[in-house]
Amino acid sequence: METFTGNPADREDRSLLICLGIESTAHTFGAGVSELSREGHFRILSDARDSYKAPKGSGIHPREAARHHVEVCPQVIQAAIDKAGVRVYEVDFIAYSAGPGLGPCLRVGAVAARSLASYFDKEIVPVNHAIGHIELGKFLAGLQDPLVLLISGGHTAIAAGGAEGWKIYGETLDLTIGQLLDQLGRHFGLSSPAGPKIEALAFQYKYDEGKIPVLPYTIKGNDVSYSGLLSAAKDADMRGVSREALCFSVQETAFAALAEATERALSFTDKAELLVTGGVAANQRLSRMLQNMCDARGVKLGIIPKEFAGDCGTQIAAAGFLFWKNGWSVKAQEAFVRQSWRIDRVNFRPAGTKACPQGIVST
Ligand code: AMP
Ligand code: MG
Repeated sequence: METFTGNPADREDRSLLICLGIESTAHTFGAGVSELSREGHFRILSDARDSYKAPKGSGIHPREAARHHVEVCPQVIQAAIDKAGVRVYEVDFIAYSAGPGLGPCLRVGAVAARSLASYFDKEIVPVNHAIGHIELGKFLAGLQDPLVLLISGGHTAIAAGGAEGWKIYGETLDLTIGQLLDQLGRHFGLSSPAGPKIEALAFQYKYDEGKIPVLPYTIKGNDVSYSGLLSAAKDADMRGVSREALCFSVQETAFAALAEATERALSFTDKAELLVTGGVAANQRLSRMLQNMCDARGVKLGIIPKEFAGDCGTQIAAAGFLFWKNGWSVKAQEAFVRQSWRIDRVNFRPAGTKACPQGIVST
């Protein structure tokens, strides 16, 4: 348990804040410089990134990905600083992805943030990566108080902010939607991330009702489950079902389950906005399904732009402002990483709701 002793009241009078965000939870090492005005206007000054490419047919190897991050870290951070046209001393604080993620990868980002913070005497802010996807999505989609569908390599969750922080209204019981697509891609011998290739294969499918393989559609309560779907898809592939038909059916089945759970959560929470964020938000078929559902309910749909759907330093800068304003800064030597860190365990109010409690504590 960490206690963050910064005093949020001291931070009210700053007219413009500049944050360097560092991301390294999984395949991507990213750095981004962003600014936030007192009026809450968010501006991206730069975003640089470099992603580890797993060999075809295999997933992310944490140690290899971390090795990649160590190699590219200096030039990615330098590129972000140069493109932003700022000097490091002008940066108010450095935010880094503290979790959830792969331990070896997280440690590279934490060490980079810690080294810069020590050398340039900056404050350092540990950020929850999932809240990064959400805060950046809210800024870019112009939403205030949305229900959030967070779909990425590491997450499949339906969440909404309330007085006591983030609450989960549905999630996966096993694989994330990103893992489902990447593991199917791996089975096909594709390299990860395979989502875009699976989307392209599904798009090539010529509709012919008799030939669509029927796959298991699993919702338990308001939670989805994808492991049975993955096994059935692999079996169908071994039986020689066309890959285009399989990818089509996997997308229809997995996305319909997500849309159903999301619609129920919208009804339950009575939210007027839906934000879709995380790498899988780039999928066009899913966007169309969710757009139809939102149109039918009169809900405003916001989808994070493709360029910022996946992991990046800008998402960490975006959430960094929120965490910093809530007093979440630590001394450089206290920088921590946490491989497992759910958003419903981050103990403060989401942006957009009113006062923040003093003495922020994470459990
Ligand atoms: P993230 O963890 O947020 O970087 O998201 C990475 C995940 O997004 C991976 O599982 C990718 O396969 C997936 N992804 C990226 N683009 C697409 C797409 N067009 N359709 C489906 N999944 C995608
Ligand atoms: Mg992510």
